[in-house]
Amino acid sequence: MAAGGLTAGLLPLKGWADDESTSTSSTATIALANTGLVGKRVVVVGGGMAGMTAAKYLRLWGGGGVQVTLVEPDTVYTSSIMSNLVLNGSRNITSLQFKRDALTTRYGVIRKTGSVAAVNAAAKTVTLSDSTVMGYDRLVLAPGVTFDDAYGLAQADYETRTPHAWRAGAQTTLLRNQVAAMRDGDVFVMTIPKAPYRCPPGPYERACVVADYLKTTKGPNCKVIVLDENLSIQAERHTFELAFSQIHAGVIRYVPGVSNIAIDAGSKVVTYVDQVGGTQVVQAQVVNPIVPHRATGSTPGSWLANAGLNNSIDGRWATVDVLSFESTAAGGKDIHVIGDASSCGMPKAGHVANQEAKICSDAIVRLLAGGLPDPQPVANSACFSPITASTASWLTAVYQYDGGTMKIASNGGQTMINGTSAAATEAASINGDNFEDMGTWFNTLMRDTAS
Ligand SMILES: Cc1cc2nc3c(=O)[nH]c(=O)nc-3n(C[C@H](O)[C@H](O)[C@H](O)COP(=O)(O)OP(=O)(O)OC[C@H]3O[C@@H](n4cnc5c(N)ncnc54)[C@H](O)[C@@H]3O)c2cc1C
Repeated sequence: MAAGGLTAGLLPLKGWADDESTSTSSTATIALANTGLVGKRVVVVGGGMAGMTAAKYLRLWGGGGVQVTLVEPDTVYTSSIMSNLVLNGSRNITSLQFKRDALTTRYGVIRKTGSVAAVNAAAKTVTLSDSTVMGYDRLVLAPGVTFDDAYGLAQADYETRTPHAWRAGAQTTLLRNQVAAMRDGDVFVMTIPKAPYRCPPGPYERACVVADYLKTTKGPNCKVIVLDENLSIQAERHTFELAFSQIHAGVIRYVPGVSNIAIDAGSKVVTYVDQVGGTQVVQAQVVNPIVPHRATGSTPGSWLANAGLNNSIDGRWATVDVLSFESTAAGGKDIHVIGDASSCGMPKAGHVANQEAKICSDAIVRLLAGGLPDPQPVANSACFSPITASTASWLTAVYQYDGGTMKIASNGGQTMINGTSAAATEAASINGDNFEDMGTWFNTLMRDTAS
């Protein structure tokens, strides 16, 4: 059943059918639903948190007659979630790496190694950087984020001297090595861009993990200076205020509302303007600039922008209809954008990306069958934040469709009233049980996403 209809909609396009780097197995070992859909083609671009989940659930819910092809350049996925724990040496990058093989062997997803370089919405094709052209009935874009040249730094600086490490990989290991080489009395400076950015609590979590590591391994005199372009802590405010003022008091200095950040990658001198307009200069030993980022492909002249899909007011994100995650751009028909690249009212987070992928996959299956998306989608999200090497906090929320956006519907006590969002719930305390639960949550999320 799984194999039936898989080739019916396959176009004999250039370089596509014969590509040896492509895993073209379409035999699922999971019994797929018999939905009656035949010969439908969905191309999913980006095999991260959002794209892997979408590819899996499109097959599970769409059945064997929906051919799903996942386009992704990297052989393995490296999770950014939990990557702050690489910085204190309690994890290494390998422990965060996941293969995508199960998507093929269990669900019959076709995998294509490559990067999308162009989208032609009128022809309903994508072109890869190796010139392969692929046709689709529905296109799902989940390409994550790319990072601006900012504060006087360029991409080469991030790779070699001042890593942002905001997409886990070699930069995370570089930052780990830099932190490990610090000595008592050294200064670590990190920056936080204006929201929206990937993982709202993540930077504050990083400050805590690094502070904890420095004071327990180097001595009491190291400093972690957090330069936030926002006016206040963006998530888990109670938790991080407590962590900064008590648990890591004397190590972390939190500076909100900064502007005009300038970083010299060679000398590690950081200059900024504080909230009252004063120019400040800090000599750091390690600088971790979490620079402004945007949907991958949204820089002027790049593929998402060329297709007009970066239609948020600032041109940095793809605005979507949250009932289906279909693009609201003029040329966005049959094109869905999920994960951090989208602008949808929910935070840019991996758990949320998994949920968006499920709402989107369900909607696509319904639309391919001639129906309409679920009119009342619901999503949930959890985020765990390590505060020391053995304690953590968490944040959770349930989102519900309301008046065109996803709003926080309930948090265990408070509920949405007359369309007014409740607030996300924070853990009541920072403790070791939360740290253990964090491991369970992460393993469960990754199992659901990638296997
Ligand atoms: C330090 C840190 C801690 C975090 N902690 C948490 C947490 O506790 N909880 C949580 O929910 N989230 C957390 N996050 C956020 C989470 O990692 C992201 O929100 C999530 O990865 C977004 O998923 P995505 O699929 O949109 O992007 P990604 O996971 O980045 O995947 C994008 C994929 O697209 C591929 N791609 C890019 N361009 C192309 C192209 N042109 N063609 C084909 N493929 C392409 C990339 O190779 C990549 O595999 C954290 C992030 C960081 C940095």
